[in-house]
Amino acid sequence: MEYRQLGATDIRVSRLCFGALTISPLQRNLPAGEGAQVIQRAMDLGVNFIDTSQFYRVYPPIALALKQYAKKDEVVIASKSYAYDTAGMKAALEEALRELDRDHIDIFLLHEQESSLTIRGHWEAVEYLLKAKERGLVRAIGISTHRVAGVRAAALVPELDVVSPLINYTGIGIIDGTRDDMVEAIKFAAACGKGIYGMKPFGGGHLMDTIETAMEFLLNLQEIDSIAVGMKSIPEVEMNVRLINQEVVPEELKEATKTMGRTLHIDDWCIGCGACVARCSSQALTLENGKAVVDPSRCVFCGYCGAHCPEFAIKVI
Ligand code: SF4
Ligand code: SF4
Repeated sequence: MEYRQLGATDIRVSRLCFGALTISPLQRNLPAGEGAQVIQRAMDLGVNFIDTSQFYRVYPPIALALKQYAKKDEVVIASKSYAYDTAGMKAALEEALRELDRDHIDIFLLHEQESSLTIRGHWEAVEYLLKAKERGLVRAIGISTHRVAGVRAAALVPELDVVSPLINYTGIGIIDGTRDDMVEAIKFAAACGKGIYGMKPFGGGHLMDTIETAMEFLLNLQEIDSIAVGMKSIPEVEMNVRLINQEVVPEELKEATKTMGRTLHIDDWCIGCGACVARCSSQALTLENGKAVVDPSRCVFCGYCGAHCPEFAIKVI
């Protein structure tokens, strides 16, 4: 496993980052013990970087995995929150510290930022994180984003250290531009000293038939320090470690992971309230005849819509 300095921070991360969304209640909803085993396998294979969020509700398996890991102090945790003010961000950081049983969180991000306007709208939360950084409670702060404008905006904010953009070789999931627009924005942000860790290299599951091409594309982007991949099983961990190490992936390992593909399921009892449509930043959902309908070509299987459904009628399975 190769390790990189994350931009201008003093944080050293493995090139493969464990994306914890996939084991969370928003997606596969693994029991804590099972989720912890998947994380432990990744750590045993050299992954020292875990990406999570307050929104994912997945701190328990991460805490369990860390508890049982001898080198837990070397593991880098990135979490994020939608909080926009002092009280909200304070609560988010305290929740992460408490539930992960850590005295600091390495990286704390503003979740899903769209542009300079949204960063400005969250400035109270940024100021809280800056104070938390001075107190040693966080080591670096930044944003995650599915938008080119989000990356470009963060690049110009000196207080932000890290950017986690959506990037893959087809550009699926990028809301406001093409793959090449995003690559240019990432290069700009890296030139401004930001640490970059990309997310959704396989387009949320759309690119599973071309995983080697998908991973190679990101590995060739030297500005990307680490690549967050959602993993929900030990075979997926083993496959992704091989891909990141540019080793051959045996066919049987590929087969074992193919059976674990994702789909967005909408139940018959959907009442057509539209809450999921409003929440989907990929614009993958519409209402037709009083029911939610998904455009599978736009869905990146993030599961965020499910958390907003009052009827529990939509979920990634
Ligand atoms: S439809 Fe749901 S799972 Fe798909 S991209 Fe939109 S929010 Fe994410
Ligand atoms: S939020 Fe739930 S009930 Fe409302 S439209 Fe979406 S799936 Fe249907």
